[in-house]
Order: sequence, then structure tokens, then C-alpha cells
Amino acid sequence: MENIFLTGFMGVGKTTVAAELANLLKRPAVDLDDLLEKDFGCSITEFFTAHGEATFRQRETELLEKVADDDGLIVATGGGLPVSKHNREIMRNSGQIVLLDMPFDTIAERLEKNTTSRPNWKSRDDAKKLFESRKTAYHDCDFTVDATQPPEDVAAQILQKISGVEPFTADIDGVKLPVSPTFKAPSELAQAIAKKQYSAVVFITDDNVATAHLPRYRHALPHAISIVIQSGEDSKTLQQAENVYRQLLQLNIGRDALIVAIGGGLITDFGAFIAATYKRGIDFMLVSTSLLGCVDAVVGGKTAVNIAHYKNQVGLFALPKAIFLDLAALATLPEQRIREGLVEAYKTGLVCAYSLRRFIDENLERLVGGDLPLIANVAARSARAKAEVVHQDFREKGLRKILNLGHTYGHAVETWSEERISHGLCVAQGMIVAMYIAMKRHYIDADLADNHMEIIRLLRGPSFPVPSAEEAFPLMMADKKNTNAKITFILPHTKERFKLVQDITPAELQSAIDAI
Ligand code: ADP
Ligand code: MG
Repeated sequence: MENIFLTGFMGVGKTTVAAELANLLKRPAVDLDDLLEKDFGCSITEFFTAHGEATFRQRETELLEKVADDDGLIVATGGGLPVSKHNREIMRNSGQIVLLDMPFDTIAERLEKNTTSRPNWKSRDDAKKLFESRKTAYHDCDFTVDATQPPEDVAAQILQKISGVEPFTADIDGVKLPVSPTFKAPSELAQAIAKKQYSAVVFITDDNVATAHLPRYRHALPHAISIVIQSGEDSKTLQQAENVYRQLLQLNIGRDALIVAIGGGLITDFGAFIAATYKRGIDFMLVSTSLLGCVDAVVGGKTAVNIAHYKNQVGLFALPKAIFLDLAALATLPEQRIREGLVEAYKTGLVCAYSLRRFIDENLERLVGGDLPLIANVAARSARAKAEVVHQDFREKGLRKILNLGHTYGHAVETWSEERISHGLCVAQGMIVAMYIAMKRHYIDADLADNHMEIIRLLRGPSFPVPSAEEAFPLMMADKKNTNAKITFILPHTKERFKLVQDITPAELQSAIDAI
């Protein structure tokens, strides 16, 4: 894995931002100045005075070479290090060079408070000359970030660039909907809200998300009111909705307020349902904090609650004012949650974004291992691919059905396990089943099907018990997507891409289940 080298003048925040990045990426940070001081057994200023700059630079390059041999590090470099072309080459060959850029006066203000450990800071004029003389060398980098922002925002800019994610507009039901995959969702949300005149802002979230992420949102929007519900499918009910309506009424929330649902797919579905029905519908924005939510739920304009154990039986189509994919939040997801998101992303890639499918295939190990920039990239690309499908078929009359690949049997597995096995993992089993049937029917090439099934198994992780065909049929029958009491399977097909079939027999299903 590539190293990330942070460069820039003294005081721009290389050490501080390296620590911030290391924390988010769960990778080690190293500070070259710190390491050198440990090596020297004295401060850099003392070493400078005793041995001169030439000796210092030589030792610095030797250390850089050692560090560059390692990988996956976040490296805070010394301010003068990139002046040498040779040093820049060493960095470039082992990773990316990121310049923390800042006007000289801002740096001076910061450093004049404390210049003791900075050997090159003699006077403001001297420092300014040094700053100017290094400019060209500094700008010979992979990319630049604005270092005048708070450290977490500087780190966010770097992650944004490394992940290669960008905002896009989803065109759904004739509405242009801004979607922002972002590492600084709280401040972007605050900016979006500031543009409008809402009488109140209400966060709806669940207890897990509240613990891990609500503080960041409360910090960005201190006046918002928070309603926290219990996590889990049992909360996605009309009873729970009534509880929330009552709280909103007690709080005097009017039609000119904004609801922001912050959480995984359950919360964005539920929060959107509340907003779409309260006082006949008020404005809402959605923030997705889970990979599965980014991939599957948050873009789509569906809102819903469950009725008994039948999922999403009551709801309506409704569109938010804006969607944010909180990519920083993906860093706290457990491996199982990452895996389920990746399964759905692979499905999305398979049915409508072949380059996404290939990207997952090529980066399997690092994705399952939780590499944040790669996961962020998958989240954003999946959301975008899904937005395109939803654009073409908002009300799921045709094309949008293909996103249900793996869901027919997958839902049966989910219900059968009484929701003990997560949705994404059940869909993995459903996808294997669909793939196997398609292969047996000669809809797709056997090698290709094997390859897909292998990848899905790797994403899914260890196998687990599933219902037999006999157990699954009645459960599939109850699924809302089955019109005319016929069970519809979506099967991949080489020529037609996908085929909707309704003639799967229990025996055929059972042979596919045996292949899981
Ligand atoms: P460098 O390693 O580039 O010399 P440091 O990380 O040591 O810079 O930061 C210099 C000073 O500026 C420290 O006091 C640090 O707390 C502060 N600082 C760093 N980054 C920021 C930032 N983004 N915003 C405000 N202050 C910062
Ligand atoms: Mg430093």
C-alpha cells in the first residue's frame, strides 16, 4: 500500500494532520523530525548548531530512504526535506506527496507564538525568504490541500482526493438532487442548511449512530434537536413512527422545519417516512453512515416501515432536499457491516456498472480488510450507479427490478433466520443461488458464473445455514415484489443481460441451494 507523505513549510500542520489521518485510516503515522531527534539524542536545533545543515540533510535523506521502504505509512516530513529533488523522487516512488498549503502570514501568526523548536525561524523576514525560495519545490507534488482549515477538515480534503470521490447530481422523478460523498459531512450539511430558512432542524438517528457520530453533527449544528430511537428492525414500525410524531408535536415542530435522518438504511428509510408523512410532508435531508446504506438505501426516494415481520410494506416515494454519504463514518463499521455493503455493491456493479464490479474484484482483499479510501470509492460509485437506474425507472416498473438480483431467495433467508443474519449476507446467498440457476439454464457461461460465485463467497465470508426450497417457497410467496402470486427471480443472462423468470421449480431451487 502506498505511503502518504505530508509536506509543507514549518507550522502548516504536517505533524497534526498526520496524526488525524492515521487515526481515520487506522494506519501508523511517523514524524521524520521526531525520529531524527530520537536518533540524534538531541533537538534538531541543537544538532544543526553542532553539525551544520549539510550533515543534517544527509541524515534526513538516509532516514527517508528507510521509511520509504515500508508501506502504508502516513509520513510527516521535515519542512526542508522536499527541497532536494532526490528526496522528492524517493517519496514519489513509494507513495503520494501531499502539500499542505497556506499563506505565509497565517504560518507566521501561528509560529510566532512558539518558535523555540524551529531552527529555521530566525526572523519573520528570513522565514519569508525561505518560504519563497521553497515554493517551486513544494509545488512539485501529487496534490495540494488548503491547510488553513481545522486539522480534521485538512485530513478530510486529503481523503477526498485519495478516494477519488466527487459530488454528483441525481436526476430522480424530474428532480435534481445533490448527492455528496464526503469526509466532512457535518460541516457540508451545516452549509446546506444555512442556505435555507428552516424554523428548526431535527436529527433522527439510532442509539448506535448517536454514540459514534452524533457529537460531530451536534458540533456542526448546535441548535438542532435530536430524536434517538433504538437500533434494529423492531424500531421500523408504525408504533415507533407515532412515538416520533408525538415528540415532534410536543416540540412544536411546524411545516417549515427540516428533518435530517442520520444513520444506516433503516434510519434513512424511517426518517424519510416520518418527514414525508408528518404534517403531510416536510423537507428532509439524508445522511448515510453505513456502506450498505450508501450503496442500497439512501439514493432511491423510497420511504417505509415494516408491518409485523413483512419488511417495508407501508411507505411512499418521497425525495430529500440533499443526500450526504458520510464517508468518515464508514471507518467505524465492523467487518460484517463492510462485507454486507460490499455484497450489495458487487450486485450493483454486476447489474449496472461493470467498472465497479471490476474495481471490487481487483481490490477484494483490501476492501474486506477495511481500506477506507477504497471503501469510500465503492460507496460513491455504487450510489451513483444506483441513481442512474432509479433515474430511468423511479417507480420500479421495469429496469429498477434488476437491483433485486439475489433478493428473492435472499429475503427468504432473512425471514427464515428471523433477521439474525444480516440483509447483505442473505443477499449473498441469494446471488449465489441466482447465479447457479442461470448457469444451469445456460443463460451465462459456467466459468464466468464460477468466478462471480467465488467473489461473492469471499465477500460474504464463512457460510451459514439457509432454508431449504420447501421452507423458502412460502416465504418468497409473501414477498411484496411478487405480483399475481408468482415468484419472480432475476437471473443474469449473457445476451439480454438480465431475465425475469417465474418458472423456477422447488427442485431447481434446491439444487442451487445445495451449491451454496
Ligand atoms: P508542522 O508539523 O507542519 O510543523 P504542526 O503539526 O507541528 O506543524 O503544527 C504547528 C502548530 O499549529 C501546532 O501548534 C498545531 O497545534 C497547530 N495546528 C496544526 N494544524 C492546524 C490547523 N489545521 N488549524 C489550526 N492549528 C493547527
Ligand atoms: Mg512537525
